[in-house]
Amino acid sequence: MKAVVIHAHGGVDQLKYEDIETPKIGLGEVLINLKAVGLNHFDLDVRDGVSGYFQLAMPHILGVEGAGVIAEVGEGVTAFKVGDKAMPYLTTSCGHCAHCLAGMDNICMTFDKLGVTSWGTYAEYVKVTQHNVIPLPDGISFIDAAATQVAMATAWEMIVRRAKLVQGETVLINAAGSGVGSAAVQIAKLAGARIIVSAGADEKLERAKQLGADEGINYNTQNLAEAVMALTEERGVDVCIEMVGGGVLQESIVALAHNGRLCTCGAHAGEKVEIDMIEFFRKQITVSSTHFAPKTTNSAVLDLVAQGKLEPVIDSVYPLQEMAAAHEKLASRKFFGKIVLEV
Ligand SMILES: [Zn+2]
Repeated sequence: MKAVVIHAHGGVDQLKYEDIETPKIGLGEVLINLKAVGLNHFDLDVRDGVSGYFQLAMPHILGVEGAGVIAEVGEGVTAFKVGDKAMPYLTTSCGHCAHCLAGMDNICMTFDKLGVTSWGTYAEYVKVTQHNVIPLPDGISFIDAAATQVAMATAWEMIVRRAKLVQGETVLINAAGSGVGSAAVQIAKLAGARIIVSAGADEKLERAKQLGADEGINYNTQNLAEAVMALTEERGVDVCIEMVGGGVLQESIVALAHNGRLCTCGAHAGEKVEIDMIEFFRKQITVSSTHFAPKTTNSAVLDLVAQGKLEPVIDSVYPLQEMAAAHEKLASRKFFGKIVLEV
């Protein structure tokens, strides 16, 4: 098969489009013929060999997101058949531990990530176990499906299931130009909330307003907490959807109203953060978090995309051969929404 292969950790020059052996499936496994691949910041970490993802077996294929058609099913697979449209589940789960059986397959007790110790989605074919297949509904394109899992499902898990945002509340959504951020704006709009977005560039704030945001704050030129207070008559926001970390997380906690709820799913700008716990408990703040989303949330969100109620924001589509250019764009931060590749 054709794939984008790395033979060593490093920069974009390590991404080689070449022929490599197609994975062979065994008992309980499924082979998916990928038609589209979604990019994530995580891919850059694995490529570089940082964040604990160094010393992978080489050659290796990156990629946690994709969508396609089932090409082969192994012995013992009964829930899927050749020709079904499907996508691989990115937090690979065992299907039988206590967490998996309770529907928390996103935090399976032996979870791994697709494209880390197994080959990922930068390829014509990817092999997964039958527990890590998410069927696609009719009426969704492969490109939209490949852009749904990390962005839409995580945003839905944060807004609807964790922070429980309701009509009439005010929400602050950080990194509004990211995949999760742009999805969160659409979901908060469906929930009937007043939406304040933050980002590091004015053009990203403008795009977020086109998706339904009411106000925007540029955290490179304004103090985030002060700007939120000015927009909320010094009350603060009911909910914050956070994925930046560092100073943005600190300012976001200050920007919460009494009984405010913050939900986080990322911390690329700073993993260790100092918090004033006096202010924290005096305001009765709740912090929740999610590690991507369970398969059930993915299926719910895929249905909403197929029905046209949610629309993944696609920044650009590249052919798989141009992975290096796509990685450069992702690293530049000069994009809005998801970067997708066609296989
Ligand atoms: Zn499990």
